[in-house]
Amino acid sequence: MKPSSQLIYILSKNQGKIKEINTILSPYALTIRSLFQDYSVEEVIETGSNYAENALLKARRGFKISGNMCIGEDSGLEIDALNGAPGLFSARFGGEGLNSKEKNKKIIELLKEVPKDQRSACFVCVVALVWQKGEKIFEGRCLGFISQESRGRSGFGYDPIFVLPPYQKTFAELGEKIKNRLSHRAIAFRKLAEFLLSELEGNISLSL
Ligand code: IMP
Repeated sequence: MKPSSQLIYILSKNQGKIKEINTILSPYALTIRSLFQDYSVEEVIETGSNYAENALLKARRGFKISGNMCIGEDSGLEIDALNGAPGLFSARFGGEGLNSKEKNKKIIELLKEVPKDQRSACFVCVVALVWQKGEKIFEGRCLGFISQESRGRSGFGYDPIFVLPPYQKTFAELGEKIKNRLSHRAIAFRKLAEFLLSELEGNISLSL
């Protein structure tokens, strides 16, 4: 943990995601840590009808258990040609047993007849903050399109099939430095950090 850093718990076991978030937040004196590392707690079942409800369910549970500032995060990929699917069900798309490579293959297959100009998609990330002062939601969106095939090795999940238009490359080809500047998660978490920066009245520093 950074010196004099504000600890924020997250109700997630996904260490890859937590590492990505801490990299995004590295200019700020904020440290995200999995609640599961310090508390024995069951995972929250995502029963909400949108990203914000799911994120709030997790953040509320974490704050109740720890009494410490806590966030919940929910994210997904919305593909216009699939009427917004997989969306809220991005993690379970194609059935519980499918790994990321298989999910990506399935999406490419579903879109095989769809021309390039109709392959638009949007990554969405919603962060819920629950703390002593109340509750707050932050959202980030990143527009792109779905590639014709999986490309690149970096990142996780749908990164190998999501193309960022200015670069014409997938997140997995672009690598974490560019992704962490422009992604849905980067946008949402920078909003969170800026909010806390003002709320904590300069008690968290910014070192850009
Ligand atoms: P959850 O937010 O943990 O429920 O996961 C949402 C799903 O969307 C997971 O299957 C992730 O792999 C996928 N997803 C969310 N954000 C990203 C991302 O930045 N890159 C690739 N896949 C993502």
